[in-house]
Amino acid sequence: MPNAKAYSATSDTSPLAFAQIPRREPTERDVEIEILFCGVCHSDLHQVRNEWSAMPTTYPCVPGHEIVGRVTQVGSGVSKYKRGDIVGVGCLVDSDQTCPQCQANLEQFCPHSTFTYNSPDKHGTAPVTYGGYSSSIVVDQHFVLSVPGNLSLAGVAPLLCAGITTYSPMRRWGDLKGKKVGVIGLGGLGHMGVKFSHAFGAHTTVLTTSPNKKDSALSLGADEVILSSDANEMQKHTGSFDFILDTVSADHDINAYLNLLKIDGTLTLVGAPDKPMPVSAFGLLFGRKKLAGSLIGGIAETQEMLDFCGTHNITSDVEVIPIQQVNEAYERLLKSDVKYRFSIDMASLKSA
Ligand code: NAP
Ligand code: ZN
Repeated sequence: MPNAKAYSATSDTSPLAFAQIPRREPTERDVEIEILFCGVCHSDLHQVRNEWSAMPTTYPCVPGHEIVGRVTQVGSGVSKYKRGDIVGVGCLVDSDQTCPQCQANLEQFCPHSTFTYNSPDKHGTAPVTYGGYSSSIVVDQHFVLSVPGNLSLAGVAPLLCAGITTYSPMRRWGDLKGKKVGVIGLGGLGHMGVKFSHAFGAHTTVLTTSPNKKDSALSLGADEVILSSDANEMQKHTGSFDFILDTVSADHDINAYLNLLKIDGTLTLVGAPDKPMPVSAFGLLFGRKKLAGSLIGGIAETQEMLDFCGTHNITSDVEVIPIQQVNEAYERLLKSDVKYRFSIDMASLKSA
């Protein structure tokens, strides 16, 4: 079995460090990819540090599900891709492809889906799947995405998770043109939410805890910015939003944001803090409001999102780092100190 270079964590308190990991030889349906860039999602941090009680971590853990790379080899049954193609892989690498959810292009809800890392590896190459903080990956062709040729690859990588996770619930809500949309948290997901909301023609408002992000929020496409710690500013927007996307990674009071929805407005959670959140029934009843959730998106919708980004020239704003800086990047992520996504240049792994 071929080996790949990787960065992995061996426990919830150990830093990510260099390791060799096994990768399978491509089977008939597989595409082998040399990874060029991998985005750093806050989910990587949650998983590496075993912060999710619903999804405990198996170690060693190799995170990374915002992958862009070059095809190096394909199996004999692969028709979609050829050697040299630039492709992406997101949070999913397998599903049964027969259940009602797969038939409806919602592979993320398949009861037998395999996530890119920390899922049982049905090929038996390792106990669990290993993600994109590595030099290569082998993936079933159905879960490999085409990358538009006009976009910078470091900024494409985050589209594979942050992009689809914000694109999907906005598309699902309906036509956002002229609607008042709020995005809570201007991090990796949030800044993509702002770009999509703006591209969909919504009046876009950022709700942030970081005063220093005000100016760049406007340059990302926001029409206004609310400092969520300022009760007066929040008060002015009571009952005014059609749709709010909550991308916050830590515990916070969602009731303050539900107050901002208008009658029949929707707040969709995509942020994934572990602890349950108290919700005021009255905050929902008065205004017939909806509180919803959303998980990444299916493969067809992910391709649609990438094509949309190609047409509208949308990529993530990235700070490119070598893999050797990934532990420091995690600490900065916890301080909301990244504009707006770390993208790891995997060439740095060659010298590791
Ligand atoms: P991120 O880059 O760290 O951004 C999170 C943002 O939340 C921060 O930049 C900050 O924005 C805000 N924030 C942080 N702590 C806060 C607090 N205590 N109170 C209020 N706001 C706070 O993280 P990300 O990669 O965008 O991921 C965000 C969350 O989405 C994570 O929990 C991740 O696991 C989850 N996620 C879910 C899905 C899904 O499919 N549903 C997919 C990917 C990620 P400001 O500085 O602007 O306040
Ligand atoms: Zn992610």
